[in-house]
Amino acid sequence: MNTKQYKKLNNVTALKKAHAKCKLYCHKFIRVRDIKWSEKTGYYFICIACGKLIGVTLYQDRSIYNGRNLHASHYFDSEKIESVRYNPDNIHLSCDRCNRHLHGNKENYLINLKNKITIEKFERLNFIAHTIKKYDVIELEQMADEYRWRTKLRANELQIKI
Ligand SMILES: [Zn+2]
Repeated sequence: MNTKQYKKLNNVTALKKAHAKCKLYCHKFIRVRDIKWSEKTGYYFICIACGKLIGVTLYQDRSIYNGRNLHASHYFDSEKIESVRYNPDNIHLSCDRCNRHLHGNKENYLINLKNKITIEKFERLNFIAHTIKKYDVIELEQMADEYRWRTKLRANELQIKI
């Protein structure tokens, strides 16, 4: 591909569209990754920030009913830092209260994040967050496809519709 073709492929509109698609599938994946099931509680997730157990209820068709309470919450700001915008170590489910009212509840998020992904992985994430990355359309499409595939596998395992 020459420079002209590359620029044409990565025009503003195409990039915007590819980002939206990647975000959609990335966040779907985070949902199914963090939702658990137990006989006692049914479907639930643990808020990354406050540690509260939040029940997940389903519609009859097995899609998520209370999706508004499931936030894909970023530790490092997703708007400002593109390098970790779709990094699964940077995104975890949090409750409505922590994500919206407490603006991420970042102090507690950090403590629980290190416990969840390990200090080594956090240090790596922190390093990546301090690098500059601009994704192009092909990279975004590839990530979106991978997230779509991983979401499908996990959703099948959980027997929920996403
Ligand atoms: Zn919370």
